Amino acid sequence: MSLVVRAESLLTPFSEIHQPQVTIDNRTITAIASRGALDEPHHADHLDFPGAMLAPAYLDIHTHGAAGHDVMDADDASFDAIGAFLAARGVGAYLPTTVTAPTDRILRSLEAIAGQIERAESNPQACAGAHPLGIHLEGPFLSHSKRGVHPPDNLCELSTDLLDRFWQAARGRIALLTMAPELPGSLEFIQAATQRGIRISLGHSNADTADALAAIAAGATSATHTFNAMRVLDHRDPGLLGVVLDDRKLYAELICDGIHVDPLLVRLFQRAKGPDHGILITDSISATGMPDGTYRLGNMNVQVANGRCMYQGSLAGSVLTMDRAVRNFAQFTQSHWSSAVRYATSNPARMMGLSHAYGELAAGRPANLVVLSQEGNILATMLDGRVIYRA
Ligand SMILES: [Zn+2]
Repeated sequence: MSLVVRAESLLTPFSEIHQPQVTIDNRTITAIASRGALDEPHHADHLDFPGAMLAPAYLDIHTHGAAGHDVMDADDASFDAIGAFLAARGVGAYLPTTVTAPTDRILRSLEAIAGQIERAESNPQACAGAHPLGIHLEGPFLSHSKRGVHPPDNLCELSTDLLDRFWQAARGRIALLTMAPELPGSLEFIQAATQRGIRISLGHSNADTADALAAIAAGATSATHTFNAMRVLDHRDPGLLGVVLDDRKLYAELICDGIHVDPLLVRLFQRAKGPDHGILITDSISATGMPDGTYRLGNMNVQVANGRCMYQGSLAGSVLTMDRAVRNFAQFTQSHWSSAVRYATSNPARMMGLSHAYGELAAGRPANLVVLSQEGNILATMLDGRVIYRA
């Protein structure tokens, strides 16, 4: 039987439809139109959300965990809990993100996370929450001087052999890799990674302008948590950050919690990246959604108080959620919801090559969507045409 979802407005997110009626058959959107412009299917079920906005389900391409669980533990219970928590914050799919750790520990985690991705793929209808789609490998190929909290003893030189060991352990499930492009051998490394279909994101880096430009020419497509763990902008020596802000085709992540980046620079970021190349991420850790206290991030114990995650005097991830990131972005930039929603949906989907399934509401696409209040709070999340969360 068809399902018809109705609301006040719909963000495709490239255009806005008033009084939308979304028809869903067998997990797929079969029609979107304003009410009255479309005949209603006979014998349809109805879901009405008066006053609400419909938007594509959010994507989070950089999260280390939530709800008391770290993705590197990667057992069934932790992924079920993380998936359910993320879905309640509007996230339909995410990239579980590793941190620098001893090589054996990373290898074990990659193997276990790959198992969780395969579990979700083999039976999506049994998935009670957001889907893990692929792995974001953050570290160990980072700069010592911009490592943030990544443990210095476990940072590695660029090595295609080590990349291959990671790739084998992950059974080819590495989708995104953060690296510092100033490390020796970066161009060969970027080519080896992109040949495997891995997207390269530049970050935790002290790269100068030439190294940053060369990495982009070699195939890097994005920048990791722009401003954070990056060489500071010098107007005579722009470096990686200058390149990220100047290059309109390079995608760039932003942690929009009001702590990692000042709202003034969020506005500058939006002007620099335009509507199509900014990506909101959470960089959330296991403490997200939990009371203040001590929480794990990989092998580190992070102190969390008043929305700040600290380890040895440095910020160590966040307790940000995607719904809040979208609300913050709309508020800081005084933008229409569609601008903020694009940063959480179509932009990460396009960067990752996932637009066939995520990031846009259109006929023929899977029914992966969120229902938002006028304040941007999550009223419901729907994946493959099923309501998996309702406030
Ligand atoms: Zn991170």
